[in-house]
Order: sequence, then C-alpha cells, then structure tokens
Amino acid sequence: MRMNLFLQRQKHVRLVRIAIPAFIILFVTISALFLSLVHPFRPIANILLYHSIAAQGGGTDPLIIDKKLFARQMQYLSKHGYETVFLSTVVQKHKTGKKIPDQWVVLTFDDSRKDFYDQVYPVLKEYGLKATLFISPRRLEPSDEFCTWAQLKEIKNSGLVEIGAHGLYHDPLTRLAPPEAKERIRRSKAVLEEKLGTRIDLFAYPYGALDGQVKEMVKAAGYEAAVGTVYPRGKFKIRDIYNMRRVHVSEISRYPFMFRFMLSGYYVPIRGLLLRLMGIDTPRDVAAWNPWTNSVFSDE
Ligand SMILES: [Zn+2]
Repeated sequence: MRMNLFLQRQKHVRLVRIAIPAFIILFVTISALFLSLVHPFRPIANILLYHSIAAQGGGTDPLIIDKKLFARQMQYLSKHGYETVFLSTVVQKHKTGKKIPDQWVVLTFDDSRKDFYDQVYPVLKEYGLKATLFISPRRLEPSDEFCTWAQLKEIKNSGLVEIGAHGLYHDPLTRLAPPEAKERIRRSKAVLEEKLGTRIDLFAYPYGALDGQVKEMVKAAGYEAAVGTVYPRGKFKIRDIYNMRRVHVSEISRYPFMFRFMLSGYYVPIRGLLLRLMGIDTPRDVAAWNPWTNSVFSDE
C-alpha cells in the first residue's frame, strides 16, 4: 500500500516535471508568434501623449494624471536607458529611411495648459528630458487656464521643448467649412511663428478630428508631419507621417507593467486588435465624446 502510494507520487512528480517546461515552451512559442504577427503594425515611433498633470490626483478625467505618477514615469525613462527626442528628430530620421531606435521616446503634450509650466517643465528640467508641446494660439488669451506667451518663450528657449501647432482655436477641423479649416491651419502656424520666433513644422489635430481633406490641408500648409489622437479604423495607414500614432497615457499607466507596455511599441497594434475583436470602432463620434462649444469663432 505504502509502495503504491510512493509509485503514484513518483509518477505525479514526473508528469509535473514534463508539463511545466512544456507549458512554458508552448507559451513562449505562441507569444513569439503573436508578436511577430503584430510586429509590422507597430507605429513609426514610441510617441506618448499627455494633456494635463494635476498637482494632486488624476481623478476621473482621462486627460489628467497625477503629478507624482508623471514624475515617477519620467524617472523611469531616465534610469532605464530611454532617450527622449523631439518629434521633429523622429520625422527627420524617418525621412532618411533609417530605423528609429527602440529606446527613443517622444513625449508630446497637447493644449499648453498652465500645469505644463507649473508641473511638467520642472520635471523635464530635473531629468533633462525633451518634449514636444502643441498649442492653439488663439485660445491662450485672455485665459488664465493656459501658459502665457512669456512662459512659452521661456520654455522654448530652454532647448528642452519644441513647439507645434494645435489649430488656431482648438476647434475640430472636420466640422468647419473647408476654406475656414484651411485658413485656421495656416494661421495657427503663422501666429506661433510670429509670437515665438521659431519655425513651426508639426501639427496635432484638435480632438484628433481628421479626414483625408484635412490631412491634405495640413500638408499643403507646409507642415512636415502631424500627430493624431483617435484613429478611424482602416482609413489611414499605421505608418502615416501625417497621422502618426500616439499612446494616450492615462491613469491606467500607474501599473508599472502598463507603462512598460506603452513603451514597447506593441501597445498600438495590440490595443487596435483588441478593440477590433470587441467590435469597437475608433474613434467614437468626436462630437459625442468630446463636446465643445461651437459658438462664434471670431478672429480679429
Ligand atoms: Zn487638444
């Protein structure tokens, strides 16, 4: 009886010894196969998108993350061999046809809210990190929600931040009459160039609202590249220099594995695949999920 039990236990141990390595080999093989399948759908570069950094807590607003979390993420980048580069650096490298290094990360910030100067800029200085900031120039004044021109000049002159345009008033360009949209795309570049004394070659679509026509207008206005926010399925190529994919860093990035995943290059295609499997199209109607007051956009 005792002998039988002993033999059974031996058999059990042998089975476990075979099963565990077999499971690991199977898991690694399937994962490697899966990653090689999604590999061609990786975006041009790892471009992170932030909006607001709150002094205390991110709350429920998906566009705000906590200051401490942000500082932790920047510390992570600087300690783990990542190199933050301007978006324009990626664009120039991409044009040469050379591979963008995996350790390159582009930090982009939309809207230039006050907290960019108060919360983000000190952290960039502390770690010597670079960022690209997108501004809607006519929205800045006379509001106290946004950085002042003096602050923006200081930020630009630091050499740590490059500036791009984000529309003139931050209105969704697809909702404007084409001549109006065209004019606002052109003027957002001209006003920023005049106010900040620098060339503006990059554009970020307000609300991520774009279609083929708006994209052509951005190209024709002399911008070298543009970044999006939401990506209509199947409408634009994954590696489109006028709709570069960004990873929206929300509060979910507080889980370290999530932040690492966001930096892996696989976040965009895997998220896209999951949304597809769940039957969720992107974007949701821009007007429905991100309402704006479309009253009078007068331009003096
Ligand atoms: Zn915006």
